[in-house]
Amino acid sequence: MCGIVGYIGFREAYPILIKGLHRLEYRGYDSAGIALINEQNELTVYKAKGRVADLEESAKDKSTTGTIGIAHTRWATHGEPSNANAHPHYSQSETLALIHNGIIENYAVLKAELEQKGYTFQSSTDTEVLVQFIEYIKSLNKCDLFSAIQIALKQVVGAYAIAIIEKGNPNQIIAARKSSPLVIGIGEGEFFLGSDASPIIEYTNKVIYLNDEEIALIKRGEDVKIFTISNVEITHEIKELEMNLSELERGGFPHYMLKEIYEQPDTLRNCMSGRVNVEGTNITLSGIIDHKDKFIHANRIIIIACGTSWHAGLIGEYLFEEFCRIPVEVEYASEFRYRNPVIHKDDIVIAISQSGETADSLAAIELARKAGHLYTGCVMLSARPSHAIPIRDLIRIADTR
Ligand code: GLU
Repeated sequence: MCGIVGYIGFREAYPILIKGLHRLEYRGYDSAGIALINEQNELTVYKAKGRVADLEESAKDKSTTGTIGIAHTRWATHGEPSNANAHPHYSQSETLALIHNGIIENYAVLKAELEQKGYTFQSSTDTEVLVQFIEYIKSLNKCDLFSAIQIALKQVVGAYAIAIIEKGNPNQIIAARKSSPLVIGIGEGEFFLGSDASPIIEYTNKVIYLNDEEIALIKRGEDVKIFTISNVEITHEIKELEMNLSELERGGFPHYMLKEIYEQPDTLRNCMSGRVNVEGTNITLSGIIDHKDKFIHANRIIIIACGTSWHAGLIGEYLFEEFCRIPVEVEYASEFRYRNPVIHKDDIVIAISQSGETADSLAAIELARKAGHLYTGCVMLSARPSHAIPIRDLIRIADTR
C-alpha cells in the first residue's frame, strides 16, 4: 500500500505535494501522479510510470498552479505499473479525481454493474472502479459528493485510504479510510494529508489520525469535520507529534532494522490483504494464478536465494514438500549460477531476495530463463517493498524467453 499526500491552503500546492511524494518514496512504488485544481477551477491530472522525478519531468512544461491538490505513489495490486493505471483516477465525466491506497475486493462486481450502465474504464485498477462508482451514486441519488462517498463506501469491501477532489469545488478535499492509515495535518489556514506524517511534519506537528470507516471533510477556512460513513459526527482530539522527521521515518525506533523487524506483522497483513478471499478459504496470487497448472504439474521446485532468503527458502522447502508433495531443492544462487545446473521442462525455479537486487539471484534467474525449452516461474519476494520486483514482472520475463 503506497503513498498519499494532499494540500489545501494559501500556498502553491504542487511543490508541497512533490516534496511530500519524495518523502514517501521510502515506501516503494511503481508510478506517481498528482491532481490539482487551478484558479479557473479546472481539474488537471498528471501521472507517470516510474519515479517521482519522472512525474516532475512530465509536468515540467505544463501548468501546475493551484492551492489545492492530491498526489499519490502507487504500488500496483490490480493492473500493471503504467501511466494509465497510475493514480489519480478521473471519474467518467472527469469532474472527480481520486487517489487510493489499498484494495477494493469487490471491484469486479461493481465494475460489471457500472459497465452495464454504460461506464467505460481507462485503467485496469480497482481504484478507477471506486471513483466511477462514487460518481454513479452521486448522480443516482442527486446528492453532494460527501454523501455519495458515504453511500458508496458502505458498499465497498476491502481496504482503503482515499482522497478526492472535485472540479469546480476548489475549497474541499474529502478523505476516508479503512484498514489503511491516513493523517490530517492542521496548519494555520491550511491543511495537509498524508498516508503517514512524514510529508506533513515540516509544516505542522498538529495532526488527526482518522479511524476506520471515518470520512473527513477538509474545507478551506473551516475546521475539519469528521463523520463515520454512517454519518455520525466524530470529535477527534488534535494530537501534537513530538518526533522530528528522521525519528518519524524510523517510526520511533532507534534504527531501521529494528523498525523493519517490528513491522513484519503489518507487512505480512498488507501483503495478504486482497489476496486472501473474504471467507479466508482461498488465496489468489495474481501473477501465479495464470500459471496454476504449471505449478500443479511441477516435477520439482528449485529455490535459489542468498543469505537470510536462503534460510527462508529452507522453510519453503518443508512447506512445499509437506503440503504440495513436490520435491524441492534449495540452492545458493551463487553456486547455481556458476555451475551448469540441470533444469527439466517441468521444473519451477523460484528466486527469493530481500532487496530484490541481489546480483547472484538475478543472474541465476537469467540463467534459468535462458536454459532452453523450459518454463521457469521466477518469483522475487521482498521484505522491503521499495526494492521488490513484482512477481508478475518476473514471470513475464521468464515467459518471454
Ligand atoms: N489497488 C490500487 C491499484 O492497484 C492501489 C494500490 C496502492 O495501494 O498503491 O492501483
